[in-house]
Amino acid sequence: MNYQTIIEEVSKEIKLTKDEGVVASYIDELKKINPEKFGVHLVTTNNAHFFYGDSNEKFSLQSIAKVFSFAYAYRIFGEKIWSRVGVEPSGTSFNSLLQLEHDAGIPRNPFINAGAIVICDILVSHLKDPKNELLDFVKGLSDCKDIDYCDKTALSEKQTGYRNAALINLMKAFGNIENDIELVLDFYFDLCSIKMSCKELSETFLFFANQGKHPRTDAEILTLSQAKRINAIMQTCGFYDEAGEFSYKVGLPGKSGVGGGIVALHPNKYSIAVWSPRLNKKGNSYRGIQFLELFTTKTEMSIF
Ligand code: GLU
Repeated sequence: MNYQTIIEEVSKEIKLTKDEGVVASYIDELKKINPEKFGVHLVTTNNAHFFYGDSNEKFSLQSIAKVFSFAYAYRIFGEKIWSRVGVEPSGTSFNSLLQLEHDAGIPRNPFINAGAIVICDILVSHLKDPKNELLDFVKGLSDCKDIDYCDKTALSEKQTGYRNAALINLMKAFGNIENDIELVLDFYFDLCSIKMSCKELSETFLFFANQGKHPRTDAEILTLSQAKRINAIMQTCGFYDEAGEFSYKVGLPGKSGVGGGIVALHPNKYSIAVWSPRLNKKGNSYRGIQFLELFTTKTEMSIF
């Protein structure tokens, strides 16, 4: 499969069309990004790399980072985790309060904001130094060591994080948050602020395509069953209220974030990250979705 030719063809093709998305504006730091940025990086399970555009430039992961915190918590606590969070697609926006009220403070899945906040609470309860331990876990997933939080972005989100504050308060009222609210929210904002390039993102997600094993050392990061389950949750819940359409159009498990990144993977084949900051109405990168749809069409490979 000539991934490089297809990546270049598809990138050039979509750049000829109008980008109808809008950069996320509810977090001040995200507004500052040049909306024309566009990068792609694909890495295969046997370590072949293919890339295009701004693939080495770091951007804010936002919700994509929720997969890391969830994987880490699942690795440590196993099935116990499911008493605090579910595995159903939400069918509502990622920060919906209505649904949480209806579900008595148990978030539908770990990738909506409420679910990721509960996972942060679990990590805060059980780790001595959650911020550094999580970062070490993420760094250990690949050979990229230059990965860090962005304090500016975390602070910027904290200043306008009213809905997240409302979500955590509601869950605390239902008894689904154990720790001090501010401590957990700060950790959540730090998590979302992690920055990576498309290259780093595709590399750190490759173990999900490699049956849960580190792609270079073969060390077990997650069991085969855990990796399969997280891929299933990415497939059904990874794209806000557009997960069905993403499955239909692209046919790969993945996760998006309001920083304009999308990462997707083909089990036993590759992991691919795309970054383009303007978002469609559902909060997913407009060009990122367009790119992946054409990419899986031209490669004629999806999991279905
Ligand atoms: N930090 C963002 C928030 O909580 C994450 C949103 C996202 O990427 O979905 O609003």
